[in-house]
Amino acid sequence: MSETVLVTGGAGYIGSHACKALAAAGHIPVTYDNLSRGRRHAVRWGPLVEGDVGDRAAVAAALKAHGVASVMHFAAYAYVGESGTDPALYYRNNVIGTLTLLDAMRDTGVERIVFSSTCATYGMPETTPIKETMPQRPVNPYGETKLAIERALRWYGEAYGLRSVALRYFNAAGCDRGGEIGEQHDPETHLIPLTLRAALGFGPPIAIFGTDYPTPDGTAIRDYIHVEDLAIAHVRALGYLAEGGTSSAVNLATGRGYSVREIIAAVTKAAGRDVPQRESPRRLGDPPTLIADPSLAETLLGWRAEYSDLDTIVRTALAWEQRQHNAAGEPRN
Ligand code: UDP
Repeated sequence: MSETVLVTGGAGYIGSHACKALAAAGHIPVTYDNLSRGRRHAVRWGPLVEGDVGDRAAVAAALKAHGVASVMHFAAYAYVGESGTDPALYYRNNVIGTLTLLDAMRDTGVERIVFSSTCATYGMPETTPIKETMPQRPVNPYGETKLAIERALRWYGEAYGLRSVALRYFNAAGCDRGGEIGEQHDPETHLIPLTLRAALGFGPPIAIFGTDYPTPDGTAIRDYIHVEDLAIAHVRALGYLAEGGTSSAVNLATGRGYSVREIIAAVTKAAGRDVPQRESPRRLGDPPTLIADPSLAETLLGWRAEYSDLDTIVRTALAWEQRQHNAAGEPRN
């Protein structure tokens, strides 16, 4: 069944890939984005409504005007470090903004939402792989704001009949295999794009944050998931809710982790160049290992990662970085 879906943050990294996946599945994505961190040129598979999720009347108007059946909510700030230095920004945008969006949904009778949550809601897990039933104890404001909304969704479901799937992403990585959209953060803080830029000579040497972790090579291990796999999971969650599925929270991950040094090795191989690097102290609040058990997503949504092998992740991210820098006319070496 084809649906019109309001995609908040549809001009961002994961949101734009979700729009492409929605269109490929026969749905109509209506991007709702204030373009504060999103990119107009990433909106290519449906209309763009410029607006803020904190503007209840504007969201309600967009929901009505487009005959929206469901919402995918990506619009949020997502820098862990920034959330620590400016928590007010994060509470205002991620919590108040989302609650306002939920009000607008209630105003217009839209009752289904797929919500971008995060592994940061688990904090420093005592054991891995992480299951959805494990305690959620965030260690930064970013994770707190996402957990606050997960909890609100539960109560809004009981009181107002809102149904939701909260998707707890592990490390989103890679870019559209078709090369149409990619990862474009400003500033970029993520390991894979920064390592690629170091290899290509477009950025400084990569700083390895911590070499004394209790892991086989001493560097931190993460469960990297290809952004196209994330996008497909959102489409599956939409279908699950449309078929009457009950509210749930689900990990999106592969169940396999890679260390920082393994990522650097994969980039070295893909780029065919050594990666300039330096060892640095641990980054505050970074757990040694974050690996999820993804089996609930398979049981509930019929989803499992298809494109998240490290080679595909690094290859698609490399192609995107090269294209970005060629387009910008930056010197290459
Ligand atoms: N990392 C690193 N150097 C960097 C950026 C990240 O060593 O310049 C490490 C970071 O400590 C973590 C992993 O790479 O262990 C992934 O970090 P990223 O910021 O990409 O994602 P996060 O896990 O913070 O969501």
